[in-house]
Amino acid sequence: MEQINAIKGIPLHYARLTSHPYGTRGEQRDFLIDSEFLEVLKTALAEVFAHCPLGTPEVITTAGIFVDKPGQHGNGKAFDLDAIFWSTNALVTLNFVHQKELYLGIESFLRKHFGIVLNYYYTNHEDHWHVDTSVNVDYHESSKSETLYLQMVLKFIYGKAIIVDGISGPQTRAITRDVFDQLNINTPITTKVNYLKFLDLTGKIAFKLSEAKNSPLQLFENLSDVVEALPVQHKNEVMQALNSFSDHAETSQWLTAFEDKHHDLDAVISEVLNT
Ligand SMILES: [Zn+2]
Repeated sequence: MEQINAIKGIPLHYARLTSHPYGTRGEQRDFLIDSEFLEVLKTALAEVFAHCPLGTPEVITTAGIFVDKPGQHGNGKAFDLDAIFWSTNALVTLNFVHQKELYLGIESFLRKHFGIVLNYYYTNHEDHWHVDTSVNVDYHESSKSETLYLQMVLKFIYGKAIIVDGISGPQTRAITRDVFDQLNINTPITTKVNYLKFLDLTGKIAFKLSEAKNSPLQLFENLSDVVEALPVQHKNEVMQALNSFSDHAETSQWLTAFEDKHHDLDAVISEVLNT
């Protein structure tokens, strides 16, 4: 094991303190990490940020690497990623609902390097990605975490009507085949080379969408998604206030003006396939 406080020059911070709460940049810390695992982490993050439209970040916050407990953390071979901070942007994992494209772009590239990635929809992982290398990179239908990811990108990146429950069945298989055909990737997804191609293309498409879906109209829709996810006792009041804002004649005229610039998924896909 070795001690680090940065990865490839990006400072590693801790933000789970009263003085530095979750979602802030936190403070730089030393972390113990297994040397071989560190190499995988470096390679993975280099690939993420080579493709990410926001480039190399200024800070990464982690909930921990070596933790004195059983499992991969106990060997310094697991990483909990809380948030990523660029100069004017941040991806806080708990904000998945309104940062879906950026979140899933990052996760797609992480999955090319880590056999285990636990995300927002996986129990107790709303506020961080857990990544480790305890299993090989590939897709198994029986894997709940892998199927959650698959269903999330089918729904939120490829716009398919699919239930995200982590259980693969006829619906998930059929939609997966459709999207693989559209992307010119051979099936089945369970063949590693096909899965890696899917991760790579999906990462690139998600990142392009994260850039395109930045209009005021899209940001307004993101806000509606967040309100939709609120507990019922708060939801109605906020939703009514939001609706009276968006239904106001001047606001709705202003928002409608952005509709033409709405992203076109097919155009983004062919752009990525042709580069
Ligand atoms: Zn973890």
